Amino acid sequence: MQITLFQDDDIVSGIPEGIECKDCGVFQPISQFQVMQSGEIKRKCRTCSRDQAQTVARLRKENPYPDEHYCCPICDRHMDEIARHGQQKLQVWVLDHCHDTETFRGWVCFNCNTGLGGFKDNLTITQNAVEYLHQHKLRIGNHETSDTGHRDKQQSQSDMDCCDTGC
Ligand SMILES: [Zn+2]
Ligand SMILES: [Zn+2]
Repeated sequence: MQITLFQDDDIVSGIPEGIECKDCGVFQPISQFQVMQSGEIKRKCRTCSRDQAQTVARLRKENPYPDEHYCCPICDRHMDEIARHGQQKLQVWVLDHCHDTETFRGWVCFNCNTGLGGFKDNLTITQNAVEYLHQHKLRIGNHETSDTGHRDKQQSQSDMDCCDTGC
């Protein structure tokens, strides 16, 4: 079964007259969009939803579900590790495909699929995220870790002790 994610920007609250589909960009009446039980409306039109479902079904046939030795190509976790968190083994892997070219990209775990979606499948945004995390690590590594400062002080104290004993 295909798992569909509703990210914050995929749904619309309230009752607008029409919506611009986030996939095809066509402004269409509400009847062309799926209304969920919560009253929220999906931002992808019925035509795009159907087309995408057909694409995923085709790609599923062309690319068999991974065997038990498979690991997620992004987080490197094995099926057992992911299934421990309550998922059935047959639902561990999510078919990931390129929406622009409608081609198969790979089988990934649910978390990594959510991550890719959060970064809009966009290389620049994903690289910016890597750089952002990296910069923070550098910052706290160089200046802001109190442990490091403490250690430096201890180090200079022992240097002085050493000098005092005349070695
Ligand atoms: Zn559409
Ligand atoms: Zn993963």
